[in-house]
Amino acid sequence: MRFFSTRNRDDGIALSEAMARGLAPDGGLYVPASLPRLEADAAAPGMTLAQTAGAVLEPYFAGDSLQDALPDIAENACNFTVPLTPLRGGREPLEVLELFHGPTAAFKDFGARFLAESLARLNPAGRDKTILVATSGDTGSAVAAAFHRRRGFEVIILFPHGRVSPRQEQQLTCWGDNVRSFAVRGSFDDCQRLAKAAFKDAEVREARDLSSANSINIGRLLPQIVYYALASLDVARRTQGPASFIVPSGNLGNAAACLWAREMGLPIAEIVLAHNANRTVPDFLESGTWSPRPSVATLASAMDVGDPSNMERLRALMPDEESWGNRLAAVSISDDEIRARIRADYSAYGRVWCPHTAVGAEAYMQLPVELRRGHHWVLVATAHPAKFSEVVEPLIGGEIAIPPALAALLALPRQASEIDSEFTTFKDKLLER
Ligand SMILES: *Cc1c(COP(=O)(O)O)cnc(C)c1O
Repeated sequence: MRFFSTRNRDDGIALSEAMARGLAPDGGLYVPASLPRLEADAAAPGMTLAQTAGAVLEPYFAGDSLQDALPDIAENACNFTVPLTPLRGGREPLEVLELFHGPTAAFKDFGARFLAESLARLNPAGRDKTILVATSGDTGSAVAAAFHRRRGFEVIILFPHGRVSPRQEQQLTCWGDNVRSFAVRGSFDDCQRLAKAAFKDAEVREARDLSSANSINIGRLLPQIVYYALASLDVARRTQGPASFIVPSGNLGNAAACLWAREMGLPIAEIVLAHNANRTVPDFLESGTWSPRPSVATLASAMDVGDPSNMERLRALMPDEESWGNRLAAVSISDDEIRARIRADYSAYGRVWCPHTAVGAEAYMQLPVELRRGHHWVLVATAHPAKFSEVVEPLIGGEIAIPPALAALLALPRQASEIDSEFTTFKDKLLER
């Protein structure tokens, strides 16, 4: 399988090269030449997550230098559970796909661990590489955890000072060793600007072999197809019908993976993208006009994106904009609705949502009744609520039990440098070792 930039269909490259590059030189995002249809028996219900990854991703690895390593990569990267738990039965069945049982308690662990396992095999000599990541909260810690103490890699994290949750900040700054964290006095957009400037700067590139681990990297996106395969095949086995997904969305990586999974022939019917008050995508589906804008801060901060990068991948998949409305839906949910949904579902079901998952839970409740009843819905739960205890605990009037992996990280000392958002400041830090 070859991979092409969304901006140029001429020169295809191998998967491992696309992973090593991150962004294409023309500024586009890498997409596979085609989305292979899965053979009927390639992935079967009852397979483990790692086995499903091997089966579903095999066509993308065909002919690549990592082809033979795929089962091993999958085994090491996908070593945690992905429960699909029932929430409602009867005429309006709803299940929850829990993607937060990895080491940093958000779905970013899938992509980050898969990418780390892949890049480590592409760098067997352990030559010095720098993984640069700008984060709004969850990506940075997942990438740090995945690369921590890996020979040949240094991780540099940029996060917006004071704009991540206290526990997210702890997870971004507790690593030490080969991980350095910078708290930037500015917004997530400033962090992204600094990272992009570093990639363009000749002196920095001379001094460091830079790679990006942001969700534009195809190596983070492909493994996200796997949990849609696992869940939809499981629903199909039990109900003889397809699953429909509600996907809490920001930069549209998770959305792209779900759309690709359906395109591959997996049993998926409807896809609903649940956005917070950043309404760029819902507005586009309503008006047909794409108008990216600065992000606004919401309770679901990991989804505060006003100009989603992966839109380019969605356009590559659906060049005919008229057809979008038939293939997916998108809604926007306010902070007040997030709060009300967390309270309501805690009292009705005893389930505690993180603010992002609550956006999805509310989107489900706002579906027209006939749509709710006509399908077997799966709510994608993107993070553990304990990561956002300062938002969620006052709403449910109680404490959230902390998962063991997260508790271990909370006990470690923090180390981060605070910097202003001028590129020269960051550049000096990159050039000193
Ligand atoms: C990153 C993130 C999202 C948004 O995912 P995208 O792939 O960027 O759309 C949603 N929820 C949580 C908890 C996240 O960390």
